[in-house]
Amino acid sequence: MDTLLNASSQPPRTSASPASLIERATVDVDALATVDTGGQWYLQGACRGLDAAIFYPDPDIVEDVARALTVCEGCDVRETCLAHALGRRELTGIWGGTTERERRQVLRRRRSA
Ligand code: SF4
Repeated sequence: MDTLLNASSQPPRTSASPASLIERATVDVDALATVDTGGQWYLQGACRGLDAAIFYPDPDIVEDVARALTVCEGCDVRETCLAHALGRRELTGIWGGTTERERRQVLRRRRSA
């Protein structure tokens, strides 16, 4: 775990920014609502076997948040995870490559749509 998370000395997120993921999530929010979140998708998560505490960082510690988001970035079940988190109103932690603040924004937009 530490090897993976500490391996890079580069800024942890260099491709999709949280904002771009949320933008996609916002655009596809209706589609996300139809994603089947049953089954054991989490067994395929890139976070499997990692310390769950990594995914509940202090939202004000950017490096810790970025570390978790970096794991999500390479995850094959990211959309399912995000759909699950939105469906369950998971208000804390990193889910589907999003922060709790980002998910609140998505839910607000969903309510106002
Ligand atoms: S998107 Fe992130 S939190 Fe969700 S299963 Fe994948 S690695 Fe874990």
